[in-house]
Amino acid sequence: MGLLKQNDYADVRSVGIPRALLYHRYGTLWETFFHELGREVVLSRETDRALVDEGSALSVDECCLASKAYLGHAASLVGACDALFVPSMGNMGHHLGFCTKFQALPDLVENTLRDRNVRVASCLVDVTEEHMPMREAFLDLASRFGANPREAKRAWKTAFHEQERADRAAAGAQERLLTSLGSLQGSERPLAILLVAHPYLAHDPYLGGSVTDPLERMGATVLYADEADRERALKTSFDFSATMPWVVNRELIGAIMLLHEHIDGIVLVSAFPCGPDSMTDDAIMRCIQGKPILNLTIDAQSGTAGLETRIESFVDILRYQKKGGYVHDRH
Ligand code: SF4
Repeated sequence: MGLLKQNDYADVRSVGIPRALLYHRYGTLWETFFHELGREVVLSRETDRALVDEGSALSVDECCLASKAYLGHAASLVGACDALFVPSMGNMGHHLGFCTKFQALPDLVENTLRDRNVRVASCLVDVTEEHMPMREAFLDLASRFGANPREAKRAWKTAFHEQERADRAAAGAQERLLTSLGSLQGSERPLAILLVAHPYLAHDPYLGGSVTDPLERMGATVLYADEADRERALKTSFDFSATMPWVVNRELIGAIMLLHEHIDGIVLVSAFPCGPDSMTDDAIMRCIQGKPILNLTIDAQSGTAGLETRIESFVDILRYQKKGGYVHDRH
């Protein structure tokens, strides 16, 4: 870190955070961190059609829907805060990489929104090349916001613990749901569907809601692969593949393995076009046996049209099977 960078964000009083992509994984940490540094946090609104359209208009066609939506969120914050927080997330170690989109995000936002005078506050998390784990990246970031080392450590520690607490709460709630499902028998027991999707799809009411809403309307219980015990899921994923490079995809696959016996079916949801998912979905379809799998893709053009019909027929098939109908493990 050069000296010039020492406290170049010290004048930033309000920090804008796009409610998209890794916000759905680290949002609690990020918000707590900036609050601890005495900053105001401005979140973009929930995703809606207008944000996705704006992001799509700003993006090249080849970008995935999730990153198009992110740009819409980012654009909506320009003028509403002093700077946007856009971290560059490379990896957390070997075989623990993030999608390359996350590493390039600060440049993408700066270049795309340059003529709107966007200001980006960033940090780099990259263990393998830069020896920069998340903790160190955030301590460095805090000092750029003018915090002394003691304040920086306190902000990080509080933020990290809040995120851990939020993750534990989500995993605990899902565990309890599984236990209560396990205590129900026969026709009393609703279908348990495991939704396997990146958190910014699964928990975005607009993007993921197009899948979870029809499932719930049909009486199925939705379990989330990203709300399984992440550490155990990650460890388990190495039994599936020793070389898979992406940490989030690893956790999702590990969760399928952990929850396999508790679920009736699996719904894979990807944003079009997603490099990591296109490889891992293929491996999941080939290697995960014994549970019906529905593979859905959401894209900016067609949006959610047609999804509902496919979900309904998938649920019908699962119900039929549950009653002892034919066994057919691919849909
Ligand atoms: S993992 Fe897929 S959906 Fe997520 S940012 Fe990368 S390409 Fe897009």
